[in-house]
Amino acid sequence: MIAELGLLISLQETDIEIKRCNAEVASLPPRREAIEQGFAVSAKEFLDLKTEFDTAMAERRQLEADVAEEQAKMEKFKADLMKATNEKQYTTAVREIDATKKTISTLETEIIKLMEKTEKLEAKVNERSPEIEAKRAEVDSQIAAITSSVEADRQKLASLTEERARLIAQLTPATRATYERVARLKSGVALAEARDYSCTACRMTIRPQAFNDIRRGENIYECENCGRILFFKLEVGVE
Ligand SMILES: [Zn+2]
Repeated sequence: MIAELGLLISLQETDIEIKRCNAEVASLPPRREAIEQGFAVSAKEFLDLKTEFDTAMAERRQLEADVAEEQAKMEKFKADLMKATNEKQYTTAVREIDATKKTISTLETEIIKLMEKTEKLEAKVNERSPEIEAKRAEVDSQIAAITSSVEADRQKLASLTEERARLIAQLTPATRATYERVARLKSGVALAEARDYSCTACRMTIRPQAFNDIRRGENIYECENCGRILFFKLEVGVE
């Protein structure tokens, strides 16, 4: 067999592996997204509950901050009352104190309602947490597993690309052009095995004379029908 045919077979194997690695790398974001989507669906009820709890808690904290603010005002009005030197100042301070007391009382009523609500929600959240955490851990480990497998392929791509360049450099320009042209037309697979007097890719029958030529591997022979470069497996000793 001519050396070029051996090189082409190695190049084909390298290209197929490059293609597989590229597909794996490209598949990572959608696969990860699908796993996350699956988790989001199974955890939706819980996540809604959690959002409701977080919202109520935020509302409660806001009202508590409002109360603190009103209490600070109250202190100021009480000081105003102490400092009052006339009837008008006195009346104003008393009115402000009353109004602030009412505001605080309204806020505190709201806070109590929210406390009841947040306590109930918290109990529900806590009850379902272990189940969701277990699911989340499972999802995380699934994602970690596919990420590390894809990372291995990503690293492999670097050495495959070097290997491809090394093989390509050894081909004659004509053979290289033929390979690249057929590969482009045939989804990256430029070679086909010739077996039992036919092309295994397109099933076209190969004339006995041509088949014998291919078996000897002394030429780059393209399938008359599909144009793929034909090779004979046993004779070239490819596994
Ligand atoms: Zn063919």
